[in-house]
Amino acid sequence: MLAPAVRTFGRGGIHPDPHKQATAGRPIEDLPAPAEVRLPLLQHLGDPAVPAVKKGDLVRRGQKIAEAQGTGVPLHATISGKVKPIDRHPHPTLVLAQAIVIARVADAELPPLEFPEDPEWRALPRDEMLARIREAGIVGLGGATFPTWRKLQLPPGVEVDVLVINGAECEPYLTSDYRTMLAEPRAILEGAVLMARILGVREVAIGVESDKPDAARVLRAAAAALPAAGVAVHVDLVQTRYPQGAERQLVFALTGRTVPAKALPSAVGVVVQNVATAAAVHDAVRFRKPLLDRIVTVTGPGVREPRNVRVPLGTLLSDLVNFCGGATDDATRIVAGGPMMGRALPRLDIPVTKGLNGLVLLTGKGPFEDGYGPCIQCGRCIEVCPLGLEPDQVSVRVEAGKVLDTAPYGAEECYECGSCTFVCPSQRPLVQFMQVAKASLRRQRETRSAR
Ligand code: SF4
Ligand code: SF4
Repeated sequence: MLAPAVRTFGRGGIHPDPHKQATAGRPIEDLPAPAEVRLPLLQHLGDPAVPAVKKGDLVRRGQKIAEAQGTGVPLHATISGKVKPIDRHPHPTLVLAQAIVIARVADAELPPLEFPEDPEWRALPRDEMLARIREAGIVGLGGATFPTWRKLQLPPGVEVDVLVINGAECEPYLTSDYRTMLAEPRAILEGAVLMARILGVREVAIGVESDKPDAARVLRAAAAALPAAGVAVHVDLVQTRYPQGAERQLVFALTGRTVPAKALPSAVGVVVQNVATAAAVHDAVRFRKPLLDRIVTVTGPGVREPRNVRVPLGTLLSDLVNFCGGATDDATRIVAGGPMMGRALPRLDIPVTKGLNGLVLLTGKGPFEDGYGPCIQCGRCIEVCPLGLEPDQVSVRVEAGKVLDTAPYGAEECYECGSCTFVCPSQRPLVQFMQVAKASLRRQRETRSAR
């Protein structure tokens, strides 16, 4: 019998060194409850949560401490303890933001809340499942942090027929999704089927990169053991190639459908959710368990003992790094997420938030510390761009101060995968040029529509 084909996307893409060997073999370890957590009221795309506790209150792990408003989600205590003054604290993307700080009190004095199984969980109506997902504070755990209850509610007139579950963890260094697939295949499958029922789709396609055949195997075994629910689940290997885990590349690989420029996958009948999100949805619907922890890969040459760690949200990155043996003497850079699409962080007294899947400590000089050269028109950036954009043209126009002339070269479509920067022989910061152009074009559009 022929081996099943390994699927992939069409144009572009790169093959960076995966750097995953340090943590791929390390099962998830639990970080002991830290002395303090700082929980920002905004850890997602949408309205910030509103505090439901005040200084001096005693709270138990699992208790709701901030209410959702508008487009947002609520927030829960991730350790048991005493609430400190609610104030502004360092935030991974907002520099400073309001956060609820909890100082730990021993579990024996203040036991965590329990979340027993709801025996009727498989038969819940759609609205009740959605309400539990929102109440649990779940957002896209692949890094997007879009509230899951909103992504599962399609706008009027939009219909989908496939739910794609993203297990293609293509960012170098990161293995948190891989270890989650090995540790929690049943929860991922059950969560996927629940989301398929909410969306009204009968097909779930799970994409796993071909260098993780063991993850695909355990997911297939879990799928075969699922009770019949009128939903067909298949687990497909996709090529190990960056950015295979980007939504439009994964949708093409698994369904053959092309998501149009500037559109969402729902434009071609698909919704995409990450494997960790699927597991969290299962916990929320079955147990009413809120999102309290997240699994983070802590790795890179600047970490003494790279690990995959289940960590209470709000834990300071410094506590997380200490759990991993501390930083090496020559660590120079901190990256939240992977090195291709992650963000540089200035410090470690920043809390773990819902969108953090990896913390990479690097050594040596940063990519543009020695400056960069002129464009030599080699065309490599165009070749690797999975969207067929022209970052070279954008970059030279931004340099020339002609930012608004960049629209024909696709600046607004760029989702900042970093492939172009990775291959540029002149080491030009092409993603940054795209960001500048994108922001200027957006401002221009907003100004025009305000007139
Ligand atoms: S890869 Fe760099 S040097 Fe080559 S065309 Fe693109 S921007 Fe120019
Ligand atoms: S960062 Fe943007 S321009 Fe560069 S390869 Fe990715 S999508 Fe294309």
